[in-house]
Amino acid sequence: MDRNFAEFAALLGLPDFQPGWVWLVGAGPGDPGLITALGLHAIAHADFILYDALVDETLLKAARPGAGMIFAGKRAGVRSCKQEDISSLLADLAREGHRVLRLKGGDPFVFGRGGEEAQNLARDAVPFRIVPGITAGIGGLAYAGIPLTHRDTNASVTFLTGHGADGQLPPHDWEALAKGAPTLVLYMARKQAGAIADALIAAGRERHETAAIVGNATRADQQVIVTTLDNLAAAAEQSPATSIIVIGANVRLRHELDWLTRTAITLDPS
Ligand code: SAH
Repeated sequence: MDRNFAEFAALLGLPDFQPGWVWLVGAGPGDPGLITALGLHAIAHADFILYDALVDETLLKAARPGAGMIFAGKRAGVRSCKQEDISSLLADLAREGHRVLRLKGGDPFVFGRGGEEAQNLARDAVPFRIVPGITAGIGGLAYAGIPLTHRDTNASVTFLTGHGADGQLPPHDWEALAKGAPTLVLYMARKQAGAIADALIAAGRERHETAAIVGNATRADQQVIVTTLDNLAAAAEQSPATSIIVIGANVRLRHELDWLTRTAITLDPS
């Protein structure tokens, strides 16, 4: 296996990253290996990379020498760049004729304001391309050994955010969710875990239903807590700031499918 990435790019027919374009790229949930071929190709050709806090910085090593790196995330809870500033910077750099890469955690169109950034580019008539990524709610569950769907447990999945535009828990229809959503996957919900569990139990969900919190999913320090709905708040307090919550019977399959920890155990010489 001695093909280089440029040969792979040619083999796959990856499109050129043209000057004056913005590519909004999903970096995946953490493990740098989970970026797509198109995403890596974009990193290798970008003139400027604006990246978020959730992006693993190892990926930036694939950039060409001299590419401009702009951190556009939050550090210690403080946003270093306002959303409007990011949008105008993307448009300005593209108009100057640069290849501009906006690198976001997970998938750019899943709870990450990628839609808003793309709208601004569209309104400014800046050409752009969306490169999807593996979202935390999918990749994180895979690394936790929890199938998102399984014929024995759930035939649908619902993705929710715990954090609306005003920073509060959005007014989800808990009655409808309790009844019609066998598996719920919640982003940005760690601080609201107790309120979410209470709302679901009040709307009829079993208080001993299984749930899990996957913190720093797909990273070296991934942490999974399996719990029940009525203990979700306490479990959330033990979880890292970047955590995804899953509620549903599919969580129970982890005891059979936790490939990651199991591999670590097998490899342990003691
Ligand atoms: N666009 C991103 C989501 C951004 S919202 C995506 O598609 O994954 C940020 C939230 O995503 C975090 O609060 C957390 O709930 C979730 N998240 C992102 N990366 C994660 C990771 N590695 N582990 C656990 N949760 C993660």
